[in-house]
Amino acid sequence: MMTKTTPLLLKDIYHLALGTDDGGRRRGVDVLIEDGRVAAIGDNLSATQLGSDAPLTTIDCSTKLVIPGLVNTHHHMYQTLQRNIPAVQNAPLFEWLVNLYPIWSHLTAEAVEVSTQLACAELLATGCTTSSDHHYLFPNAVTDELIDVQIAAAARMGMRFCATRGSMSRGKDDGGLPPQSVVQKEEAILDDSARLLERYHDPSPLSMCRVALAPCSPFSVSEQLMKQTTVLARKHGVMLHTHLAETLDEEQYCEAHYGCRPLELMRRWEWVGPDVWYAHGVHFDDAELELLAETETGVAHCPSSNMRLGSGICRVPEMLDKGIRVGLAVDGSASNDSSDMLGELRNALLLSRVRYGPSAMTADQVLKLATHGSASLLGWEAIGSVEVGKAADLAIFEMQRLDYAGALSDPLAAIIFSGASHRAHTTIVNGKVVLREGKLLGAEGILDSQGQAPVGAYDEDELRDRANAISRQMLEAEGHDTRWMP
Ligand code: ZN
Repeated sequence: MMTKTTPLLLKDIYHLALGTDDGGRRRGVDVLIEDGRVAAIGDNLSATQLGSDAPLTTIDCSTKLVIPGLVNTHHHMYQTLQRNIPAVQNAPLFEWLVNLYPIWSHLTAEAVEVSTQLACAELLATGCTTSSDHHYLFPNAVTDELIDVQIAAAARMGMRFCATRGSMSRGKDDGGLPPQSVVQKEEAILDDSARLLERYHDPSPLSMCRVALAPCSPFSVSEQLMKQTTVLARKHGVMLHTHLAETLDEEQYCEAHYGCRPLELMRRWEWVGPDVWYAHGVHFDDAELELLAETETGVAHCPSSNMRLGSGICRVPEMLDKGIRVGLAVDGSASNDSSDMLGELRNALLLSRVRYGPSAMTADQVLKLATHGSASLLGWEAIGSVEVGKAADLAIFEMQRLDYAGALSDPLAAIIFSGASHRAHTTIVNGKVVLREGKLLGAEGILDSQGQAPVGAYDEDELRDRANAISRQMLEAEGHDTRWMP
């Protein structure tokens, strides 16, 4: 879907990291953007390069770092309303889940709308321009179409979005973890998945919305649903996603129920291949890494979540050496508890060094993970680098800041190694400015012709207040302590 917006000229860029295979960087160049794409990269560009005298919005980038927009490959946006809950602040995954399911059973369409906007807001503000979301929570009492609500909310924020239709069908009564009140009948899951694919999945290069299918995990759905999901996804040519090898509890569950390790189960169910990406992938052994490489199956690395829940350290440098496709993700907000995408790059770099030493991962490698690597997981070729003809998805950082002073011998590495705030100055998605001067504009906001004053800026305060109010309601419904809440 092409979106007609005013052409943009990023003028005199202080430091441009192209995100291309050769790790190219440029200084003093301009980037011209038209019709959602990068139209030209070069010196002294102007509207004449577009062959028209159309009005042009110019953004002075003489003190800015410009990078490809970051791509988030795993999230549970609804969890932004259950961040940092004292009852599970210190719990491992299964205990954490069992305690949160009752709160999540109070999820409403409004909560999904607000939490999706909140997550997108934080992601866009920290340089992320494409995000997937793994929504698998459909309380029985809610009749609204929750993925439709999410898609509309992401569009409202101006986020390029990959909705993954999650599912849980195996409740406590069938030996699963979730209560029956949040699991669905498998026929309903498959019908809704097919409906969403028909209605929203847009495979075109500059698509603002794609749909993938994503049963929650091997411990929350049946074998039959896993298999039927692959058939439906492959019929439509869409991607498959699920959680895998996150914790040792999961390994024990698979051994006890299926007599094999989680990845072997996935192999038996034909859940491997270039159209599959897993979230986490912490506990793969050597033979399993070989299988991932052979089958071109991808892994979404979630370093903050893995540290937060004490799940372990993903073998990312070894995966990259073997040619395994790895992307980056913030994971759900109840296990991070933040949608800070730039912060995720910093944590990926630092966590790799805890296991493998100081040369384990460079700033360039971690940028590649979060751009090219993540785009590859989503199968989205038009995003992930700044190149003529590709999508104009860019994150722009002001480098004349106190917290970057003294770090500018390597401006790209500065935003990963240094900085007291991860907030971008400007974020551009599909050629449209959605964050300016650090303030969200949303998809409806526009700039004046100097690229300065935002007109009709998004109301961040209202979003914050709505989120806090719904969060309080959901916690109170399950008797959690809310006396410190605003
Ligand atoms: Zn997750």
